Amino acid sequence: MRIPMVDLRAQFLDIEPEIKEKLNEIIESTRFILGPNLDALEKEIASYHGVKYGVGLASGTDALHLSLRSLGIGQGDEVITTTFTFIATAEVISYIGARPVFVDIDPSTFNIDPSKIEGKITDKTKAIMPVHLFGQPADMDPILSMAGHYNLMVIEDSAQAFGAEYKGKKVGAFGDTGCFSFYPSKNLGCYGDGGMLITSKSDIAERAKSLRNHGSKELYHHSEIGFNSRLDEIQAGILRVKLKRINEYNRKRRDKALIYSERLKGLPLIFPEERPERHHVYNQYTIRTKKRDLIRNSLKDKSIASVIYYPLPLHLQEVYRDLGYREGDLPESEKASKEVLSLPIYPELTEGHIDEICEVIRKALS
Ligand SMILES: *Cc1c(COP(=O)(O)O)cnc(C)c1O
Repeated sequence: MRIPMVDLRAQFLDIEPEIKEKLNEIIESTRFILGPNLDALEKEIASYHGVKYGVGLASGTDALHLSLRSLGIGQGDEVITTTFTFIATAEVISYIGARPVFVDIDPSTFNIDPSKIEGKITDKTKAIMPVHLFGQPADMDPILSMAGHYNLMVIEDSAQAFGAEYKGKKVGAFGDTGCFSFYPSKNLGCYGDGGMLITSKSDIAERAKSLRNHGSKELYHHSEIGFNSRLDEIQAGILRVKLKRINEYNRKRRDKALIYSERLKGLPLIFPEERPERHHVYNQYTIRTKKRDLIRNSLKDKSIASVIYYPLPLHLQEVYRDLGYREGDLPESEKASKEVLSLPIYPELTEGHIDEICEVIRKALS
């Protein structure tokens, strides 16, 4: 693609000397697992969010998975989440033998509709798992007050929203845990797989640290069945270089989003809307239109990337057929899945590229 969804090379060239110096330092140190870079990164990310602990893990999926386990959720429990998200959000609920209970979205933000949560709470419900989809914070106030009222835990899937804020506070810092993915295309991405959970509760941090390392707190002493899910030193080192620039990267994403919305003004499209008191970090710039497929084809003809996040909500996925959902059950998500289109967005995307993309869309719609 001439204009890709993300251009990781452009970002790398900008920080190349610092990255290479970091890589050399780590390789020469021969400390590759559970070393000083992970230690420092966990402290830096915890402090960035104003929480006490960070636990570096092998992926964002593992951050969600080990959050559930550290919180003691398991067999027979129910966890409420949105149906309009990446499969990992629900998959981890299934890993532990719990049942995902899907809720519809607020169509203007694509995030879980808090007014539809209460009706799904049963005596088996243990947690709510909101997702800050595309970089826009979910509506945390009603979610937290409901969780407080029904004594539920909150696990934030912040995989797409590193640095996003709700009423001046960073997402990930609201729940019992906040979960991040450092998959290369995320706002803060490493050069492989990586993830982290953050929390202010020492018992949760300790349990997660044990679970990521074969259920051991002391070397070769195992108190429970754990996993091999550590964030390695090379990834941690790369993330430390990029963390210093994350606010700049997010600011640039916000600038590009603003330019898109200006250029597309007047066209029969719905643009992403930043809700008041929220700081959207645009992991995706996602428009809505009934002419989605037409636009997508026109872009493709000009070698411009676009992606449908997500073409099928989770309650209608084959893997969840046995949960018994049917088409029409969560109509806003089903409608969104037929109308959404995410356009290229990344800090290095040029204004010229945005002009070109918007021109193709304008022509397709004329
Ligand atoms: C990327 C992502 C994940 C999973 O992260 P990985 O690091 O790829 O395991 C989970 N939830 C959402 C919403 C994501 O976008």
